[in-house]
Amino acid sequence: MNELERQLHYPLADRLREGGGTIELAPGVRWVRMALPFALDHINLWLLDDEIDGVQGFTAIDCGIASDATRAAWERLFDTVFAGRPLLRVIATHFHPDHLGCAAWLAAGGDKRRFSAPLWMTLGEYAFGKFLSAAHGEERGAAAADHFRAHGVTDEQTLDKVRARAAVHYPSLVPAVPESFRRIMDGDEIAIGPHGAKRIFRVIVGYGHAPEHASLYCEAAGGESALLVSGDMVLPRISTNVSVFEIEPEANPLPRYLRSLDHYLMLSADTLVLPSHGKPFVGLHKIVAQQHAHHAARLAEVLAACEQPRSAAEILPLLFRRELDLHQTTFALGESLAHLHALWFEGRLARTRGADGVYRFQRAARP
Ligand SMILES: [Zn+2]
Repeated sequence: MNELERQLHYPLADRLREGGGTIELAPGVRWVRMALPFALDHINLWLLDDEIDGVQGFTAIDCGIASDATRAAWERLFDTVFAGRPLLRVIATHFHPDHLGCAAWLAAGGDKRRFSAPLWMTLGEYAFGKFLSAAHGEERGAAAADHFRAHGVTDEQTLDKVRARAAVHYPSLVPAVPESFRRIMDGDEIAIGPHGAKRIFRVIVGYGHAPEHASLYCEAAGGESALLVSGDMVLPRISTNVSVFEIEPEANPLPRYLRSLDHYLMLSADTLVLPSHGKPFVGLHKIVAQQHAHHAARLAEVLAACEQPRSAAEILPLLFRRELDLHQTTFALGESLAHLHALWFEGRLARTRGADGVYRFQRAARP
């Protein structure tokens, strides 16, 4: 446990195993954990008792990637927790594969087509996921390699790997997205729960991690603490990835992310936060402060490093001092660029493109 993590409070033991076990966090709110084949090896999903149009069943929040292991874990839940009741609705917080990958299969009722459930998402997330799932692999691969090259990754072998990964990565984990969805927007209220015991969840849209990320907040009531299904916007052990990717190469996501986090300061400080990775925790305001401090420190480091012209590839080892696999490198380059762009947009760094086609950033001369 690191020093920052020690400031958070985990009211639940970490006794949940991947693969279909559940813990009831509050009446009718279950924590489900599913395995991921990455360095980040799990995702948390939330399964809520629900009733829609007089039918009793469940609402699932997030889905897991499309894999045999995820589908098998859901099938076990259908056979046990569901006990014949249907899934009534799937809410996906954002388009990332671990959240959306299994949505089409889940919405269609699993292997046995036991039910059909609508997918609820923001427009930005649905459109992005739908597009990337169907995107032409070769073009996406070439765009990713060009992006890496323009930011200082010049080793051809690495670029080949980047190209090959980007061509298949998203569609392999999200082979399909449902053909239709129900749009949710910032400020919408979603009633979830059995008749007479519904909780009202307010949609809070956040930026910087994904185009239109939805988190869901339920006020404290009846002696129960407030709940925030935070998705990936706040995580207890690691900082949320905030990246510039090839699809939006001049994006400035970091200030958007930090501004989005500030909305959480208006929520109750003792909210039980249900994050997509790690354990449910109490300490929402602390984690917002930690994220501000973390990124301020990194921006200062990046600015200091840019006394000389630096590419994003040269900044990367400064921010990530450990060995990274290709999957992690993709996010690390994006994150390095997010910090450079935040300073560039503020006018504290100037950007030039060299004869080699590589963008470099240097401390701006004072006006
Ligand atoms: Zn995510």
